[in-house]
Amino acid sequence: MTAHIDASKFLDPRVAAFVSGRHAMLIGGQWLPAASGRTLDVLDPSSGKVIAAVPAGEGADVDLAVKAARKAFSGPWSSMVPAERAKLIWRLADLIEQHVDMLGPINSYECGKPIGDSRNGEVPFTAETFRYYAGWATKLNGESMTINAPGDWHAYTRREPVGVVGQIIPWNFPLAMLAWKVAPALATGCTIVLKPAEQTPIGALYFGKLVEEAGIPEGVVNIVTGFGEAAGAAMSGHPDIDKIAFTGSTEVGKMIARAATGNLKKVSLELGGKAPTIVLADADVEMAVAGASSAAFFNAGQSCGAGTRFFVHRKIYDKVMAGVAERAEKLRLGPGLDPSSELGPVVSQQQMERITRLICEGKSSGAEIVTGGGRAGDTGYFVKPTIISNTTRDMSVIREEIFGPVACAMPFDDEDLDALARDANDTEYGLAASIWTNNLGAAHRLAAKIKSGTVWINCHNFNDVTMPFGGFKQSGWGRELGAQALDLYTQTKTVAIRLP
Ligand code: ADP
Repeated sequence: MTAHIDASKFLDPRVAAFVSGRHAMLIGGQWLPAASGRTLDVLDPSSGKVIAAVPAGEGADVDLAVKAARKAFSGPWSSMVPAERAKLIWRLADLIEQHVDMLGPINSYECGKPIGDSRNGEVPFTAETFRYYAGWATKLNGESMTINAPGDWHAYTRREPVGVVGQIIPWNFPLAMLAWKVAPALATGCTIVLKPAEQTPIGALYFGKLVEEAGIPEGVVNIVTGFGEAAGAAMSGHPDIDKIAFTGSTEVGKMIARAATGNLKKVSLELGGKAPTIVLADADVEMAVAGASSAAFFNAGQSCGAGTRFFVHRKIYDKVMAGVAERAEKLRLGPGLDPSSELGPVVSQQQMERITRLICEGKSSGAEIVTGGGRAGDTGYFVKPTIISNTTRDMSVIREEIFGPVACAMPFDDEDLDALARDANDTEYGLAASIWTNNLGAAHRLAAKIKSGTVWINCHNFNDVTMPFGGFKQSGWGRELGAQALDLYTQTKTVAIRLP
């Protein structure tokens, strides 16, 4: 478990030149600095060093971007036939794939994740998401209704784009989160003001270049970089944004929902999680060990679906714990750009401090550290993959979303599915869960009892572009991916005609 700290030696000169170059925001087809002239620094989380500066957009920049998006919405974009729109989105997907050698390293540099996860996972998934929604652009049909009232009628619905949408995305999957939001919005004919997270704006700005190259008309996709409290808040309260789509913390999600009440813009929220990983007595132990480790440590645990509460049958508890601890201790920590790294840093000092504080709180309230237990090294923002046992339901480590490579483990004795579901559901969140078993009946029964938007069986963190993803309870509003995401960006108009 060694932490290399010099990520720059793995940088291709073209990537280095783009990252350290002068950055501007894409607004109405122009590349602009912030109206205030201010910038914000982007850091390499594996060293804490500044690698770039991007415009710190604020209210005035958001206003400009909204005007450009409004103009494009009532201009060429809405009059373009769906098949043309589909072609442009497909072209954008091709470009994303062709630019994997830039997008992959930029993504890993700014958010710290292993380069293989960017190049072979996130970038292809991003391209695939655009292709999937390119296909939907030509399939957005209304219905015709058979009317009950006397007389001759013809009634039908139209699915119309919701309008100008504001999209605020997080730093954990900067490109995938962008695609989950931008692709269905484009397919439905909306225009966009996108705000990437302040920690990871560079991949989004590179994507802006590809939007232009694909030939998407100016003003359809606008990208405003900036802090959440400034640019993000200006978007959520903006009177001329028709819809806000947000992925991030539950706390900020609530602020956005409140800010959106001014013009009652539509809101969709994909928020935090505290997913249970439930291992039944008959589970394949090797598979469960690999699955639970990846559930907890994939993307350094910075995934809203991360499996952070292990419930393991006592019969196999020791074996599973030993297996997960062994894997955790073997994980090679290092900068995302180093191809030998298996676990990158967490994204920022603030996140690292929050994670280590929660671990300490767990320890001081009586929990035990099975493995890991704090920061790794003293450079960059590395956290040791950590498993905690002997927890109780009131501890912050069990209740709060940690968003780091940390999971709590609890044995259970009785395979009473109602009791198991009660424990698994004992959280304000409801985003995801996984069940590990070969018992088909138990798997389906338990899946039905779990209160979460996704239940994975013998897998975890499996997202496919066809499968709706979103939260029960305080994990959010609405579903992204799949056909359901189209509902977020369209509204139904009913037309009723009395036949003369
Ligand atoms: P995290 O706590 O994991 O960084 P956040 O929910 O703070 O996640 O951030 C996710 C996104 O929300 C980022 O793009 C961030 O800039 C934005 N954001 C943060 N605060 C606000 C806010 N008050 N209003 C709107 N957006 C915000």
